[in-house]
Amino acid sequence: MVLNDPSLLQDQCYIDGQWVSANSGETIAIANPANHEIIGHVPVMGATETLVAIEAANKALPAWRALTAKERSSKLRRWFELLIENADDLALLMTTEQGKPLAEARGEVAYAASFIEWFAEEAKRVYGDTIPGHQADKRLTVIKQPVGVTAAITPWNFPAAMITRKAAPALAAGCTMVVKPAPQTPFTALALAELAHRAGIPAGVFSVVTGDAIAIGNTLCDSPIVRKLSFTGSTAVGIKLMQQCAPTLKKMSLELGGNAPFIVFDDADLDAAVDGAMIAKYRNAGQTCVCANRIYVQAGVYDAFIQKFAEAVSKLKVGAGTEQGVTTGPLINADAVTKVQRHLDDAVSKGASIVVGGKPHNLGGYFFEPTIMRDVDKSMLVAREETFGPLAPVFKFESVDDVIKQANDTEFGLAAYFYGRDISLVYKVAEALEYGMVGVNTGLISNEVAPFGGIKSSGLGREGSKFGIEEYLEMKYICMSV
Ligand code: ADP
Repeated sequence: MVLNDPSLLQDQCYIDGQWVSANSGETIAIANPANHEIIGHVPVMGATETLVAIEAANKALPAWRALTAKERSSKLRRWFELLIENADDLALLMTTEQGKPLAEARGEVAYAASFIEWFAEEAKRVYGDTIPGHQADKRLTVIKQPVGVTAAITPWNFPAAMITRKAAPALAAGCTMVVKPAPQTPFTALALAELAHRAGIPAGVFSVVTGDAIAIGNTLCDSPIVRKLSFTGSTAVGIKLMQQCAPTLKKMSLELGGNAPFIVFDDADLDAAVDGAMIAKYRNAGQTCVCANRIYVQAGVYDAFIQKFAEAVSKLKVGAGTEQGVTTGPLINADAVTKVQRHLDDAVSKGASIVVGGKPHNLGGYFFEPTIMRDVDKSMLVAREETFGPLAPVFKFESVDDVIKQANDTEFGLAAYFYGRDISLVYKVAEALEYGMVGVNTGLISNEVAPFGGIKSSGLGREGSKFGIEEYLEMKYICMSV
């Protein structure tokens, strides 16, 4: 990996505006999932260093929140510009540690940057309220204030965007933040810290701590100084963190697992539905929490959809994300490959058949063939569990009511998609789906201007949009007697 700016590859943590090693001096090697080569090493930090980062965030808080919104906004704006200026390096770094194709990594850098740009703007629009008094001598106002020191724990599938979607609204609101990135993708996080430093974001306002997930997580959860935790990851870990945060009653934002249905009705534009399914299923090799996990196609177009879908999937090119023309990179690790294989074997053993793909790719390692299965039913694991890989199970359904029932028959409620053209059906289905986000005739719904988040076991709170900054604000009611 040759970066235009080698100083973006940082191998120390960024705490209180300084690059620091672990107290123990211990480091851990980070490998490229495409070829297993070691990219570099990062510190293995634990409770002690995390406490230092929390203290630094607390110390930096009064001055940061005292800045005018416009002053915070201009620093964030500079951070945004630096992401864009360094997009090629950030994308290469991301592809090298995460595996996604370079074009997707570039897309993620733009997406990550868009949150910083958006919240730099939203910083200036944190409005309060005045309320007509309940008595003649009373004047009632509501002001919004930053919650204080915050923390973020982020996943590997979007190594940049999952950090900026949390840090940008936090900093815009006047909060400070300690980030624990995923162990698989620390370098993107550290490059973001380097750019935050260059943007003039003051020491302690944004720190990144790598290392022992449990020790760092416990310290962030137990700390009475940390007033909010924002987490993106699995439902099991999200529940654990919520339990750990209960004694200090932290505010929480949780973006957890999904099990997105993708429904194609008889009257859908099939070519558009195939395009949507390709994006919703195979983006990031199927490793996004809003990936289509269950594809339901109405009986009248079942065979026709599968034929077109198979043609499109056959054109995908598997390989290292840095290679020209590659559309599907490796999965993140061996466990991810095992899970896809387990879901596939389970479905085939219960009667599903493979249309395309169906096995680990002959490149070996963590590469898996983009796969479509047909004649899938609800007795199979793929109906209930998130696969998080390039495996598309296609279910057949007859009636609208039946598919809505099946689509909602899950503990999860993050994203859902459907394709259809009957306007009354469109509205009915959009309302009936028990999900935080619904894509109608589109397979791509994430952007900085819209509220991202789920219901049920998919989480709490919303990120992005005008609502995203509210998660980092407390409301204060002032009752004045005049
Ligand atoms: P995934 O299976 O996709 O890696 P996880 O929920 O395990 O999802 O991980 C998401 C993030 O949560 C990562 O940064 C990981 O290190 C962190 N994490 C995992 N377990 C814990 C824990 N017990 N305490 C704190 N953080 C954790």
